[in-house]
Amino acid sequence: MSDQIRSSILRHLRYTVGADADTATALEWRTALSLALRDLAMDPWAEATRITTDEDRKRVYYLSMEFLTGRLIEDAAINLGVRDEVERSLAELDVSFADLVAREPDPALGNGGLGRLAACYLESMATLQLPAFGYGLRYERGLFRQSFDEGRQVEHADEWLGDGSPWSLAKPSDTHRVFFGGSLEGETWTPESSIVAGAFDTPVAGYGGRWVNTLRLWAASADPDLIDLGRFNAGDFFGAADAETWAKTLSRVLYPADETELGKRLRLSQEYFLTSASVQDLLARYTSRHTDLERLPEFVAIQMNDTHPAIAGPELIRLLIDEHGFSFDRAADVATDVLGYTNHTLLPEALEHWSVELMGSLLPRHLQIIEKLDARIHATYGPAADGVHLIDHGQVRMGDLAAWTSHRVNGVSALHSELVRTDLFSALDELEPERIVNVTNGITPRRWLKLANPALAQLITDTLGEGWETDLERLRGLEQYADDPAFLDAFGHTKHEAKQRFIGWARDEHAIDVPQDALYDVQIKRIHEYKRQLLNILWTIARYQQIKQDPGAGWVPRVKIFGGKAAPSYAVAKDIIRLINDVASVVNADPDTRDLLRVIYPPNYNVTMAEKLIPAADLSEQISTAGMEASGTGNMKFALNGALTIGTLDGANVEIRDEVGHDNFFLFGLTTEEVAERRTKKNHARTAIEKSPVLRGVLDAIAAGAFSPNEPGRYGGILDLVWNSDWFLVASDFDAYDSAQQVVDLTYRDPRQWQRKAVLNIARMGFFSSDRAIREYMSEIWNVGPAR
Ligand SMILES: *Cc1c(COP(=O)(O)O)cnc(C)c1O
Repeated sequence: MSDQIRSSILRHLRYTVGADADTATALEWRTALSLALRDLAMDPWAEATRITTDEDRKRVYYLSMEFLTGRLIEDAAINLGVRDEVERSLAELDVSFADLVAREPDPALGNGGLGRLAACYLESMATLQLPAFGYGLRYERGLFRQSFDEGRQVEHADEWLGDGSPWSLAKPSDTHRVFFGGSLEGETWTPESSIVAGAFDTPVAGYGGRWVNTLRLWAASADPDLIDLGRFNAGDFFGAADAETWAKTLSRVLYPADETELGKRLRLSQEYFLTSASVQDLLARYTSRHTDLERLPEFVAIQMNDTHPAIAGPELIRLLIDEHGFSFDRAADVATDVLGYTNHTLLPEALEHWSVELMGSLLPRHLQIIEKLDARIHATYGPAADGVHLIDHGQVRMGDLAAWTSHRVNGVSALHSELVRTDLFSALDELEPERIVNVTNGITPRRWLKLANPALAQLITDTLGEGWETDLERLRGLEQYADDPAFLDAFGHTKHEAKQRFIGWARDEHAIDVPQDALYDVQIKRIHEYKRQLLNILWTIARYQQIKQDPGAGWVPRVKIFGGKAAPSYAVAKDIIRLINDVASVVNADPDTRDLLRVIYPPNYNVTMAEKLIPAADLSEQISTAGMEASGTGNMKFALNGALTIGTLDGANVEIRDEVGHDNFFLFGLTTEEVAERRTKKNHARTAIEKSPVLRGVLDAIAAGAFSPNEPGRYGGILDLVWNSDWFLVASDFDAYDSAQQVVDLTYRDPRQWQRKAVLNIARMGFFSSDRAIREYMSEIWNVGPAR
């Protein structure tokens, strides 16, 4: 194998890249390596397609505006079973595998958890040998790259395609046209313009290398029929290029809005472009082998990842009626049987809605279908559906549209799904009690343990043997080692090694100096008020003040590590970033506290950073306001890597705590019901602050400019929020958080006790494998049998 890989790399280096082994650059080597690995995926890829076609198996189509895949080389090498051979072959050529991997761009085609979930699910579907496609957009520019300037977030364009994209294959045979605008006469739509969707396929190899699925990303370009050659020939080059410019804009940028809706024509156009190209594509695949579209639900399942592709219902109905002669009712029934919708948020500002004017001008036929769907609901259920409106106050409500055109709607944790049933879609739940189900999120143990934490993965394999990678419940075998000193020492050693790796990475990539011997206390995720990075940094200030007052009190040394990006238009989140950085400057420069407290905020949090940081973490901060985090998946990655969680009863934290054992989780804070009640109390924040001298001292220090001496008023806005509105209950939860942090210290002072809890966390995380989640989707939503 090793010889074969070496000659394949050398062949690509010479014949595809056109470089010489003696003078090739790292980029040239990396391209040749990616191509050699892609070659290894080709046979199982073709074979998977052949088996699916021969056996006429049902396919799952996962539609998502975001796929946060992370780097691909090492993941593919591991799943294809050649990681070590590849490393050896390159070493024989005097090339460092680690060095090539470290230079690979991390495609940022997503904002955060939702996009990363889509990537974990694709990997699990391939591992489970389930025929599936991921459909997304090939953004020219992914999420912005973040840097800090005097503590403030600065956004830079992300040019991830700049190095070429050796992983993707253009598929010009699978091109589609997507139409927009124009007019409607009766039910006949005469669009005004069209855009061409070109397919780019990336292989997604399952673990073991036996099955490969496709991530198909659509790139927009101008319809050649519409480029105005007349104007061009008349010398009006710019006017002639208008159609091209608009077309290219469609797949130019990922919206950097996380959890908020952007009322932009471009955004709806992007969503429709993705959805229409994908639905046309899967129908073309189906009709090439089948004639009876009534049977579509037997062979096709479409999953909508959040509301972004919610136009899929109307689009499928439109195609069945307008192109295949279906009646409206039959089309609506078939579409509903095919579609599933995953809800990711209850935040009203994140449930998309588009004005009737916008929808009518961009997609008039779809608006008409949505109106008919609304009428059909009321005709079917009568007065019981009086509260249901797909269109309300001049707005098309995409959450309701998705829910009512799907045969299953799922939330992403037990708590969240319950809130979806009782709060968000209560009418639907009453009328169709089977419709809303729960599938708690999961993460792939291949990337989040085997790839990210090789030392721990090796220890597990040495202890339990192989096989845990695809059967994560086997980790339970570690329970019996939770009191075994030799095993705990070995575990401690893996943590040490992960910290070393992180220290090296922080030094090389960001010139940040991180101490080794300390409790690594980590909060990495998008910056959002509900995630409460503010609570964390306020507590950090409190700790700083306490150490200053009593330096000899036997403090546990802590490194507080933050990571995360704020949406560029989210002013409060940006203030929080700046506050963290300002606190870091003061604390890290203070010789009185330096050895006991450090604040680190490496910029540009992404999948690669998560892979470096999570294995090194001791403490995982999952401290959102209860009822606001749908699931979280970061929480799962940490626990799987032996970090203990300090957290609220929110999202999947609830289930993680139940699985790992209540003694092995640092719980604090108000519950969802208590949050709702507290919010009704007048001046709840002021009351809480008056009861907490510690919090009061922190807020006063910020107000006095302790962290912004040149501009004492810098954080007036944040302070005003905490004192006077505090929707996210930072003040109300502060003391409980402080107490929980003291229990953390107490526990950490007894290393054996800490390690024991960490090992029990790892041992009991089997449930959170994305393989389990995908099996649930298969049986509860997609109605596909076990693939193997
Ligand atoms: C896992 C992951 C997330 C999601 O983290 P949460 O803590 O669940 O919000 C976001 N971004 C990246 C890069 C991730 O890897």
